[in-house]
Amino acid sequence: MSVNPIELYGTNVFNEAEMKKRLPKAVFKEVKKTMESGQALSDSIADIVANAMKEWAVERGATHFTHWFQPMTGFTAEKHDSFISPTGDGKAIMEFSGKELIKGEPDASSFPSGGLRVTFEARGYTAWDSTSPAFLKEDSTGLTLCIPTAFVSYNGEALDKKTPLLRSMEALNKQALRVLKTFGSSAKRVNSTVGAEQEYFLIDKGLFKNRKDLVLSGRTLFGAKPAKGQDLDDHYFGAIKERIAAYMNELDRELWKLGVTSKTKHNEVAPAQHEMAPLFTTTNVATDHNQLVMEILQKVANRHGLACLLHEKPFAGVNGSGKHNNWSMATDEGQNLLEPGTNPHENMQFLVFLCAVVRAVDKYQDLLRVSAANAGNDHRLGANEAPPAIISIFLGDQLTDILEQIKDGGLTNSKQGGELKVGVSTLPPLPRDNTDRNRTSPFAFTGNKFEFRMVGSSASIAGPNIVLNTIVAEVLAEIADELESAIDLTAKVEEILKKIVADHERIIFNGDGYSDEWVVEAEKRGLSNLRTTPDALPKLISEQALEVFEKHGVFSKTELISRFEIMMEQYCKVINIEANAMLEIAKRQIIPAGIKFTTEVATSINAIKATGIDANTTAQGALLAAASGLVATISENVVTLEEAVAKAEDLEGDSKAHGSFYGDKVVAAMSALRESADELEKIVDSSIWPFPTYTELLYNI
Ligand code: ADP
Ligand code: MG
Repeated sequence: MSVNPIELYGTNVFNEAEMKKRLPKAVFKEVKKTMESGQALSDSIADIVANAMKEWAVERGATHFTHWFQPMTGFTAEKHDSFISPTGDGKAIMEFSGKELIKGEPDASSFPSGGLRVTFEARGYTAWDSTSPAFLKEDSTGLTLCIPTAFVSYNGEALDKKTPLLRSMEALNKQALRVLKTFGSSAKRVNSTVGAEQEYFLIDKGLFKNRKDLVLSGRTLFGAKPAKGQDLDDHYFGAIKERIAAYMNELDRELWKLGVTSKTKHNEVAPAQHEMAPLFTTTNVATDHNQLVMEILQKVANRHGLACLLHEKPFAGVNGSGKHNNWSMATDEGQNLLEPGTNPHENMQFLVFLCAVVRAVDKYQDLLRVSAANAGNDHRLGANEAPPAIISIFLGDQLTDILEQIKDGGLTNSKQGGELKVGVSTLPPLPRDNTDRNRTSPFAFTGNKFEFRMVGSSASIAGPNIVLNTIVAEVLAEIADELESAIDLTAKVEEILKKIVADHERIIFNGDGYSDEWVVEAEKRGLSNLRTTPDALPKLISEQALEVFEKHGVFSKTELISRFEIMMEQYCKVINIEANAMLEIAKRQIIPAGIKFTTEVATSINAIKATGIDANTTAQGALLAAASGLVATISENVVTLEEAVAKAEDLEGDSKAHGSFYGDKVVAAMSALRESADELEKIVDSSIWPFPTYTELLYNI
């Protein structure tokens, strides 16, 4: 296998270069046009493209194709069909039609639809997203041609995460172009761009298999803290161990082949934690790529005898994993709309787009919070290691100062000195690293993009970007309405900016987001603090949410309600699985280990006494009392958790009550059970303890 990244890059992608090589000129031009405008291909063109795609795939050794889609589970789904078509004379040829390329009917009725599909109209259709190129998935069994598709119901309702994402990109495009036009821009398209940094843990596969909690729930449900955690900060950016380096090299190669520009890799804060970051690209492609990244991370781990944990909090007591969603907007002419420019005209435009994001984030903070909500992330947000559950924006001193001046009646000078008036003079160049010092902010401006740091490591980035695109589109629409009718553009811009800063400065916070003072201060400012998933999710179906999503054609009311139902149901299911896994482990592994241990100690005490020698058995006695006491407490906690789970199940049917009960009562019972079991772990003979401990899991490689 070639290791030259340049030769390897995109070899498994039916990309523009490959299309250009294989398609007649006129067809290629047509395809490119539809790709850029997001329109549908005509049937005759689709046939030609499909055939070229098949030839390419078959030459590479593929026998099957699949429409690759992203149902609301947050995972990806595929159903493979072979290219084989019988010719009637006992032979067969490899065929792939335009129809098969453009549209599929995988049925796939078992995916959650939140009530969008009733069985009699259970058909689900997939439709090619021609703006995301087809690619070949490769493993030891062969290659499969994957066609990125949207997944919709018979009535056209979105059953997936891609369809609303594409709709939100369209909304943003429309409104951003309106604003740009008032500044005299000739841009024809605005796309949001995303680069998603991905954190993950790697542990030994053999040890992983011996932990039922990791196997069943992706996180450790038990486990006393190791003597050494991340205290010394010796893992962060540390030298990468050879076994991990070999893994990362193969990961890079696999990703490059798929056209994922894997760029950065390093060790993260927690022991056994790592990160990869790709170069940013258009949001829908970045979302597809992140799904592939998560899949390949796990696949390659398997080949190296490793298990890759994508859970937001696999281990208590050390940092969890997130996904930094770097977001900006760019024109087809290559202008980054969040790049502070060098001429006055660009500056004014930059400030408008920047302030649009500020207003959107403040006004729709609850929606952003919802977009990062899942059971796993509840362990992270607000736990003094990840951003708090309170949304705020970090802008850095310089930009904050500029906004302050706008509010105080026009821009006169910048912190760095020099004249500054919107539209007249220049913004001082913003040094990129000057703005990226704050690591505690959930939403930070980092020089020429915003970094949304709340997103969980296991989650699809579709949700956060659907929200970002839509809420920014909404504010841009308001701004466009005003600018389009303005007589004096500069004066209007100043007026708009002034109002935005006055109305929304409460969302700007450059201090320590982990501090207790911030929680108090944020409450004073009237910012939301939606601590848990069940607290946050109902905001998804608030009046405000329905209105903004419907207005921009991103979600209909039924589509939105279905998402709420699915997310709440998923939350309940995850906690239910975790609770049941805990009960099983406690009853079948931990309590028996405790009994074995106490029996051993008791036997030892009796044996010593039987010798007739006057030996001191106080230590053994104390140990026996402590261990027996803990076994009793664990057993009581098991009963409490069992009762809580049973009660929770009774509430099924009322999503909000169901979710809240799991979030309050079941989670509390789980914590109590864990606490008592972890205490027992600390005193039981290590050779009796039934599964690998934190020390073994985190320091084995
Ligand atoms: P850091 O966040 O550590 O300072 P970088 O500046 O390299 O690191 O950026 C991190 C991520 O942000 C990368 O995935 C990068 O491609 C992405 N990124 C950079 N510019 C943009 C942009 N204009 N839009 C979206 N993502 C971007
Ligand atoms: Mg970053």
